[in-house]
Amino acid sequence: MRRVIVAGNWKMNKTAKEAAKFISELKPLVADVKKTGIVIGTPFTALESAVKEAAGSNVKIAAQNMNPNDNGAYTGEISPLMLKDLGVEYVILGHSERREYYGETDKFINEKVKAALKHGLKPILCVGEKLEERENGTTEKVVKEQTVGGLEGISAADMANVVIAYEPVWAIGTGKTASPAQAQEVHAFIRKLLTDLYGAEVAENVTVQYGGSMKADNAFELISQKDIDGGLVGGASLEAGSFAEIIKAGDSI
Ligand code: PEP
Repeated sequence: MRRVIVAGNWKMNKTAKEAAKFISELKPLVADVKKTGIVIGTPFTALESAVKEAAGSNVKIAAQNMNPNDNGAYTGEISPLMLKDLGVEYVILGHSERREYYGETDKFINEKVKAALKHGLKPILCVGEKLEERENGTTEKVVKEQTVGGLEGISAADMANVVIAYEPVWAIGTGKTASPAQAQEVHAFIRKLLTDLYGAEVAENVTVQYGGSMKADNAFELISQKDIDGGLVGGASLEAGSFAEIIKAGDSI
């Protein structure tokens, strides 16, 4: 059975010291969480201290981006080898902010997904429509292009290490959450896409998270939906208490 995973995306927040402090606060709050995967996506500069503080616990660490190349003339970039060297396990790829502000295309994101898997990192592939796309009825078209594009050339075996995050862009950081029914509809569509691509057995085992203003008070209802397997959480992952509440909501299902 697929696993519920609750992942925090801190974006450009917290220093290395603040990350260590947060994780030392979070660990006792979630020590008895057994089923639900717990992941925190920190800025590059906090990865090392986060990995150290999380060592031996049920908290795993993610980067929020990555260059697909192993090394070379890519000023300012970080490679999969560098992330592996630090003990990072996951990497968030194709977040809507990277698509929007840094012009990331499905092709480039697909290169990153392949590079992550090649180096034993687990990609969290983000997909989701903008408000105007939802309003003009192209949600499924956009989500299909991003999912199929991001997964091009990824084998069925590799799908065991891929997480997908459905994040409607209009719900990210806005306080507007997709209703559980709205989110479930798109999650079921993604599951169907995965079934068409890889067959039912593989599709049933892929974790598909919801992201977009998930909080302690709406997490349970969202994650209770049949095809919603946890969350990718921005704002509410910045405080250990509220993040722990979301993790526990996921674990109680
Ligand atoms: C995100 O950044 O992936 C996100 C879902 O943010 P928020 O929870 O703040 O909407």
